[in-house]
Amino acid sequence: MTVGYPFSAVVGHDDLKLALLLNAVSPAIGGVLVRGEKGTAKSTVVRSLAALLPRVAVVAGCRFSCDPAAPDPSCPDGPHANGLSPHPRPARLVELPVGASEDRVAGSLDLERALTEGVKAYEPGLLAAAHRGVLYVDEVNLLHDHLVDLLLDAAAMGVAHVEREGVSVRHAARFLLVGTMNPEEGELRPQLLDRFGLAVEVRASRDPAERAEVVRRRLAFEADPAGFARAYAGGEHDLALRIAAARDRLPALALPDDALRKITAVCAAFDVEGMRADLVMARTAVALAAWEGRDEVTSDDVRTAARLALPHRRRRDPFDDPFDDTGGQGLDEERLEQALTDADDTPDKGPDGGPDDGGPSGGGGGEQAPVSQAPVNPGTPYRTRLLAPEATGRGGPAGRRGRTTGESGRAAGARAPGGRLRRLDLAATLAAAAPHQHRRGRAGSGLVLRREDLRESLREGRESNLVLFCVDASGSMAARARMRAVKGAVLSLLLDAYQRRDKVGLVTFRGAEAMVALPPTSSVDLASGRLARLATGGRTPLAAGLLRAERVLAAERLRDPRRRPLLVVVTDGRHTAGPDPVAAARRLAGVASVVVDCEHGPVRLGLAGRLAAALGGTAIRLEELAADHLAAVVRDVRRVA
Ligand SMILES: [Zn+2]
Repeated sequence: MTVGYPFSAVVGHDDLKLALLLNAVSPAIGGVLVRGEKGTAKSTVVRSLAALLPRVAVVAGCRFSCDPAAPDPSCPDGPHANGLSPHPRPARLVELPVGASEDRVAGSLDLERALTEGVKAYEPGLLAAAHRGVLYVDEVNLLHDHLVDLLLDAAAMGVAHVEREGVSVRHAARFLLVGTMNPEEGELRPQLLDRFGLAVEVRASRDPAERAEVVRRRLAFEADPAGFARAYAGGEHDLALRIAAARDRLPALALPDDALRKITAVCAAFDVEGMRADLVMARTAVALAAWEGRDEVTSDDVRTAARLALPHRRRRDPFDDPFDDTGGQGLDEERLEQALTDADDTPDKGPDGGPDDGGPSGGGGGEQAPVSQAPVNPGTPYRTRLLAPEATGRGGPAGRRGRTTGESGRAAGARAPGGRLRRLDLAATLAAAAPHQHRRGRAGSGLVLRREDLRESLREGRESNLVLFCVDASGSMAARARMRAVKGAVLSLLLDAYQRRDKVGLVTFRGAEAMVALPPTSSVDLASGRLARLATGGRTPLAAGLLRAERVLAAERLRDPRRRPLLVVVTDGRHTAGPDPVAAARRLAGVASVVVDCEHGPVRLGLAGRLAAALGGTAIRLEELAADHLAAVVRDVRRVA
């Protein structure tokens, strides 16, 4: 049994500790997202929470942690008799690894046994294990998309659900969701961001004395974990008692009207989407009063709740760092104070005259970073040729681009399953079983099915891909006319990607560096907006662009491994800054790629072709991109420009 680092021994991190404790008091707040760079002990603090949580009373032998006072009627281990004696056990903190399989998370249903033995054999997953406890996802921003969907469903419904071929299992799954992430490795999907009740930013202390104390305690813990834990046992015990007492106090605490008015005023002033923020703030303010042993919710509680509940909820362009416009402080303090004061001045002014009536304190969209040069608008979009990976994929998400075999598309035969059976081909299974019925001694009307008879259907269709654009925005491309044609081409490809249900991303390079103008997303509106505002000019760091693309693809491979990428490099192939692009291109070999050659003029160097060869992909001239019968549009664009 390993000894964990005690919560009460954590130095600093006051916001994080408070956010976790308030959730322990009131799990309805909805969890915590912890953002911060590596080496800030985020995970240590989160893991240390479990030891403080009140024990959970469960039905003995139930793998789904049913509460004896109110057992889950759909419990797969049920039905449970009434009046069972409660078995208390410690609250669990279950860790969900980012690379976990769907079966591991949602639980797995043994379809073979269901079909051959008539037994509903269900192995509970992590969602079942986390029921009535904490579900912790480290590097939550790198979680696979299909796991994010599972998690969002369970978090929204409080139920986990598995269904295969008409055999289905459901069970209660309510848990405190805690995620940690390093924002340098990519942001979180907005839907998932909104699922976390509170968000805190952690950073290492700048105070030398505090840093020294962190190191001192860490060394003492590592030298003698058990002894260290004993030294903090008193502090741990006190915190656990305080959580239990606050939980008891919670039901009697009401939210006074003036506190509610402040909450709604603040949410309106920060222009948050939906009503979730108001609810979370209300629950947080009440939990805070309970935590501090008070019977009343104060203005200070509302202020603290705003700092914890709003930074990740303000409406904004999804590419803006949620913590950036305030220098990492999380929330614009001045606007917060103004909203609190306004709420005092204007009691019950009604929905039309609130503090968010368009005054300069509301909104917040006016501080856009200036674009360094006047942007060039893209030319008219046109229908493009289909660019797609040449090889056939295996089981990518349904879409309209690359060819794939998998779970959707037209029937293309049947096969014995390689792993667990997921999609039964009934006709093929019956055909496989039929010849053996006599030998197997079939007597009654039922068919004698054996595991080796089972067949799954094989389908061939189109998959949706990740189309990552790597666009050269340097001076050699930036002749106004040329850039207009290039932007028009990329916009056309974006529209095509939208119609084919692809994910798209945009990396650009110019001057000294490459940047991710658009992390992979399904929103083409965002992509085209970014493209229109794209600044151009400067030298051509082609290798930097390719290396940046490689990093984006690596992160996406973790997050969404079933989706095959298609890299579309839009460049004239000339590089004038940074290392040799051919070496960088070779690192990307294996990724399906197309180079759209933008070189023009009477003398051509053919550098884009060389780049395509290094990538192991194909090159296509910008003029050849349009679907044949619309090629004239491109010529028009060039002539007008
Ligand atoms: Zn149960």
